[in-house]
Amino acid sequence: MTVGRGHLFIISAPSGAGKTTLCRAALERFKDMLYSVSYTTRSPRKGEQEGVDYHFISKEAFRADIKKGRWSEWAEVHGNYYGTSAEFIEKGLSSGRDILLDIDVQGTAQILKRHPDSVTIFVLPPSMDTLRQRLETRGTESETVLKRRLENAKKEMAHQNLYRHRIVNDQLSSAIEALISIVDGYRIETTKK
Ligand code: ADP
Ligand code: 5GP
Repeated sequence: MTVGRGHLFIISAPSGAGKTTLCRAALERFKDMLYSVSYTTRSPRKGEQEGVDYHFISKEAFRADIKKGRWSEWAEVHGNYYGTSAEFIEKGLSSGRDILLDIDVQGTAQILKRHPDSVTIFVLPPSMDTLRQRLETRGTESETVLKRRLENAKKEMAHQNLYRHRIVNDQLSSAIEALISIVDGYRIETTKK
């Protein structure tokens, strides 16, 4: 990694494995880390805030921004578009800030082409039964959407070898500790240079 530029940390996981929870914990621990707030065409869930969890935009606006080259990466996931702002990433990295991205496996493959030094982390659920239980307990998805997300989970898990690190999110506190020590490892390495 070039001295003076920040690191890109990419977290992916099947829906319900706990990546939002883990990202929040990492951002709480590393106060100077930026979170890349994605753009999406899906509807906000209860409690989600515009500009904090996502930027919620229409499919028309999203497609227009594809043409304008506004996305560093974008993908269709579970029937909606999701994208990362190229401007946000470039500005953040140039100013030496570390950036955390919560994106899917398709987006990760695209980011790795532009930024091969990205630190990639895949979060796994302890089992498929636990994954279903977590999604049901979260209670944010209709039965149809939940079914679709569980079907996609198997396909997403088949791509876990793309990632440099893997964390099984069984006990939350252990998973948070594992994530923090991965991130710390790269930050310490940079400080030494
Ligand atoms: P994702 O962002 O990957 O879809 P979330 O972070 O929203 O997943 O987690 C899904 C649900 O599981 C949430 O209700 C969350 O509170 C819960 N959860 C996350 N990690 C754990 C864990 N280790 N043990 C039990 N429940 C968890
Ligand atoms: P959710 O709808 O549960 O918030 O997210 C669904 C999936 O979309 C998750 O796998 C999440 O990581 C992914 N995702 C969120 N933002 C982006 C993004 O900007 N780009 C890509 N490619 N995937 C994203």
